[in-house]
Amino acid sequence: MPMSQSFKDRLFPITEQLVEHYGSPFHIYDEVGIRETGENLKKLFSGVEGFREYYAVKALPNPSILQLMFDMGFGFDCSSIGELQLSRQVGARGEEIMFTSNNTDQTEFRIAEEEGGCVLNLDDISLIEKVPVFPELICFRYNPGPRRTGNVIIGNPVEAKYGLSHEQVIDAYRLAQQRGAKRFGLHTMVASNELDYTYMVETAKMVLEIAELVESELGIKFEFVNIGGGVGIPYEPDQEALDIDSMAAEIETLFSAFREKHNYVPRMYMESGRFMTGPHGCLVTSAINHKNIYRNYIGVDACMSALMRPALYGAYHHIDVIGKEAAAKDQIYDVAGSLCENNDKFAVQRELPKIDEGDILVIHDTGAHGHAMGFQYNAKLRSKELLLRADGSVELIRREETLDDYFATLTFTEDQFSPKQSKG
Ligand SMILES: *Cc1c(COP(=O)(O)O)cnc(C)c1O
Repeated sequence: MPMSQSFKDRLFPITEQLVEHYGSPFHIYDEVGIRETGENLKKLFSGVEGFREYYAVKALPNPSILQLMFDMGFGFDCSSIGELQLSRQVGARGEEIMFTSNNTDQTEFRIAEEEGGCVLNLDDISLIEKVPVFPELICFRYNPGPRRTGNVIIGNPVEAKYGLSHEQVIDAYRLAQQRGAKRFGLHTMVASNELDYTYMVETAKMVLEIAELVESELGIKFEFVNIGGGVGIPYEPDQEALDIDSMAAEIETLFSAFREKHNYVPRMYMESGRFMTGPHGCLVTSAINHKNIYRNYIGVDACMSALMRPALYGAYHHIDVIGKEAAAKDQIYDVAGSLCENNDKFAVQRELPKIDEGDILVIHDTGAHGHAMGFQYNAKLRSKELLLRADGSVELIRREETLDDYFATLTFTEDQFSPKQSKG
């Protein structure tokens, strides 16, 4: 179940009108689907004390989407100053924001402390002395290294640049105590697009074990453990969805057991990005050309500036052709954009119905890591974003880029500099 039937039923009949009104290409997101997924998540994890989702802003950094998350009581996971500012713009403050930066610099620390601060999630032990004003509440990101075999996308934790090594964990919390920290959290992120729920349960088990270990050494009672993001969605039609019900039930059991044994239990946080919005967005693009050479190509008006995942990961995104959903898929096409990059293709050797110029293609599951990943290579500009509201109305929530945006960084005050000539 990638893109839901309900989203299709509400979107497909109005797609032609939307293309006429707004022009293509655009990403469009589904308020109803996002809310349903969020409410379901809260319900499923309601048996886990203090459960909270911190939406991973990088997945779909649009204020209108963040507002939906904030309305559901979610916090935000940020890893850059821009993401912090977006979260603060919708009103999030303090413990509603996790700042999980990697290779953090002083400007990031300074801005993290402003406007009511946020939860600092430190990526390394060497950063402890670099935090300008050490907060009372501190979190560290843990990298299990050889203790976990990585999931398919994120790879082997030994090769991952994130987090503290296992051997550093105790020292890190001790040093934080010495700098005045009194409240503690623990974070990890060892999966990406994981479809096996048991892997996520293992992660919850792992963070509770580390919490136990640190408590036994330093007497720290953790306020929260954060299992990160990485809950996957099925992109391919025959893939099975992650069994989120079992994941929630088994995690609840783990946390209850921890409470029994320790007489307290940390709150559980997670940072889903893809799971929250991935299936609730799609890229709508028009067929503008076709060519038949060694392969048959359909040229569309979107290119990889709107969706990098196929080029970057060889990712599959399902495609429907409006008005031809039931037609026989008796053609084989590469669906290509206009970039001077041969991997600028949304589909390779895909069975599709016969496509005519002017047909509208819906590329599924672009609600996370879609628009946000786009770049301006080849001076190709990023597309607009729309939001399909619960009442059936549609809102423009980001305009497309213009050439003025592209040239904006070429407008600057002249600055010529003559470095001193080195002697010898
Ligand atoms: C990317 C990221 C997430 C979200 O990952 P999804 O795969 O979208 O769920 C969460 N936490 C951190 C620290 C991340 O870098």
